[in-house]
Amino acid sequence: MSNELSEQQRLKTNGRIIVVSGPSGVGKGTLLKKVFQTAELPLELSVSATTRPPRPNERNGVEYHFLSPEEFHRRRENGEFLECFEVFRGGHWYGTLRSELESRCAAGKWVVLEIDVQGGLSVQRQYPDAVMIFIRPKNVDVLKERLAKRGTESQKSAEQRLQQASRELELAERYAHHIVNDDLDVAAGELRELLKGME
Ligand code: ADP
Ligand code: 5GP
Repeated sequence: MSNELSEQQRLKTNGRIIVVSGPSGVGKGTLLKKVFQTAELPLELSVSATTRPPRPNERNGVEYHFLSPEEFHRRRENGEFLECFEVFRGGHWYGTLRSELESRCAAGKWVVLEIDVQGGLSVQRQYPDAVMIFIRPKNVDVLKERLAKRGTESQKSAEQRLQQASRELELAERYAHHIVNDDLDVAAGELRELLKGME
């Protein structure tokens, strides 16, 4: 009975969870910004928590909730994360706070999670209805160029991100939807159409 009620409630609210993954530097942030500006859908971005330091121009609570490792692990032990992982080996922790999702989904919002593949697959296990979208590069050389162009990573960090990229591309087949971000306008158009088709 309680299951029936929660299912009815879910249908009434029309909230959605949309997971967007893809290798670092492929253009997820750039694409999502463009689609958010033009899609006319009730999209809201989930702000992840991370232990990595902010880049110049990143603001606490906007791009990420920037937490100390102590605070991150305190919240983790408290069960506040829907999912969290150490994203680059020996690197920093990233995670989705449950508080980013629950009230917004109940209010009918479409909450977009820009997270790595292991996080995405964990969300999919917990919410099998989540819309799974993977953003691909035309080829791996493009990733190197884009990471260099963004100019935010040290050589070591860029290398870790490229190694992670090949692992992510192997797991990507578990995602239902794939978009190649070659021409930005074409890719943004495809993402917009895909989302609009879910209205
Ligand atoms: P991600 O969020 O996936 O790590 P970003 O959105 O930060 O990637 O993009 C990485 C870099 O690539 C940025 O400098 C961005 O301007 C550039 N970029 C994104 N999409 C394209 C594209 N289609 N063509 C050329 N450059 C792009
Ligand atoms: P960046 O340091 O470039 O902002 O992000 C690095 C990687 O962490 C990206 O692949 C991004 O998708 C991933 N990421 C960001 N937030 C989260 C999160 O909340 N959970 C998980 N699992 N990965 C995340």
